[in-house]
Amino acid sequence: MAPRQGGALAWLRRDLRLDDNAALGHALEKHERVFCAFVFDTEILDPLASRTDRRVDFIWNSVRELRERLREAGGDLIVLHGRARDVLPRLAADLGVGEVVAAEDYEPAAVRDDEVAERLRASGIGFTAVKDTVVFAGSELLTQGGRPFTVFTPYKNAWLKLVGEAELAPRLDEANLKRLARPPHETHLPELNELGFAPTDLAASGIRPGETGAQETLAAFLGRIDAYHEQRDYPALDAGSGLAIHNRFGTISIRRLVHAARERRTAGADLWLAELIWRDFFFQVLHHHPRAAREAFRPQFADIPWPNDEALFAAWREGRTGYPLVDAAMRQLNASGNMHNRLRMVVASFLVKDLLVDWRWGEQYFAAKLNDFDLAANNGNWQWAASTGCDAQPYFRIFNPVAQSEKFDKQGEFIRRYVPELANVPVKSIHAPWRMSPVEQAAIGCVIGRDYPAPVVDHAVQRERALALYRKARP
Ligand code: FAD
Repeated sequence: MAPRQGGALAWLRRDLRLDDNAALGHALEKHERVFCAFVFDTEILDPLASRTDRRVDFIWNSVRELRERLREAGGDLIVLHGRARDVLPRLAADLGVGEVVAAEDYEPAAVRDDEVAERLRASGIGFTAVKDTVVFAGSELLTQGGRPFTVFTPYKNAWLKLVGEAELAPRLDEANLKRLARPPHETHLPELNELGFAPTDLAASGIRPGETGAQETLAAFLGRIDAYHEQRDYPALDAGSGLAIHNRFGTISIRRLVHAARERRTAGADLWLAELIWRDFFFQVLHHHPRAAREAFRPQFADIPWPNDEALFAAWREGRTGYPLVDAAMRQLNASGNMHNRLRMVVASFLVKDLLVDWRWGEQYFAAKLNDFDLAANNGNWQWAASTGCDAQPYFRIFNPVAQSEKFDKQGEFIRRYVPELANVPVKSIHAPWRMSPVEQAAIGCVIGRDYPAPVVDHAVQRERALALYRKARP
């Protein structure tokens, strides 16, 4: 197809990379001149609770790198700060382009795209959204009966059966990069403080932003991917890829990741691929059931009268529940913005089924804190843990926080890293230190109730209370 005159604007959002960038690739394919822009959208940034937010720091650094890469390739990145609905259509009109191309946005906030498209239309400019974030979007993968999947395993099987070269083919032909255009005016990248944010401990926390950060993270993970299935559940090992933040902001292409996993063909790589498929699964759940972003996917569990004890919620947030693994995990989250997957499951189950707090409170707390926060994954997993979701953990499966600790942090290595009060507690007591005798507590200098909290609830009692709440809610 011959490229069209008039030019296009590639609006980059959560696809902060040059490699295999679908929106940019599409624009370059169709147009002779392609400008690129990124908007620090005040409608997204202003509501953030903290001015030192690693995610904004990550985006800023990734945008800076992307701008350099685009400049090296003969183009540039126009960086704006304002309401995307206002500034983006204005920019497109000023540049005189005929089309704006962006990656499809699957979140409820995507309504901004409708308004942008409408404003562009008013100026005679087209708006095209192309798939980039997921392998199968929306209704591309349905049951044989033509309905959305609600169970993961058949979804995964269908996904694996259907995925092929077409789904994984690169979306950007590098030969077309010569069509990148430079804007008529010098561009400016606002500093973080001009955006109202401060630099964070991103570098110290081991997160490498940008496309190069993603490539390095992937390369390091490929060295251990084959052991993923054996090691991934142990928080002290931290055997995951660490790519979730890159998946969130698109500093790496999901197609490249699927490709990398499929090439390995080992048990570790297969299980890792299944996690990428979970990611797609939760995107499609939210696509077909947008109400799940706000309420229980399963209506029978929509109105459980959670006691919602504020003091218990505060103890959970601050990592002082008296259950060492839960506390270590929450302190890890508060200190680093990260939490191991197994521990996310443990603390989510604990909040809902031990502390009897509405899962949405925990979901919101994670949304504020997680570096890799992603609406679909966070909501889907919270609903899984709370048994309110699509293909969720059955309500009567309630994690025992002590048993989880004994199984997945056997030596208490992870606990000791984040709960220094327990440093001297022997391995046999590290998972339930309140079981130490008063003499033993005094001898090691860790008196329960003084140096480390006594358990805020009794798991056995709360388990029964939780079961009663769920049973009552069932039709
Ligand atoms: P890896 O183990 O290397 O997995 C590879 C990739 O697959 C991840 O980077 C991620 O993109 C995806 N992935 C892995 N597990 C899941 C899953 N269960 N659901 C969806 N995608 C998955 N993940 C997020 O990306 N954002 C969230 O906000 C989020 N919130 C969660 C909340 C709870 C209560 C729970 C139980 C899990 C949540 N997860 C979330 C899923 C999972 O914990 C993280 O994706 C994972 O810990 C990130 O580490 P990693 O990159 O090393 O993952």
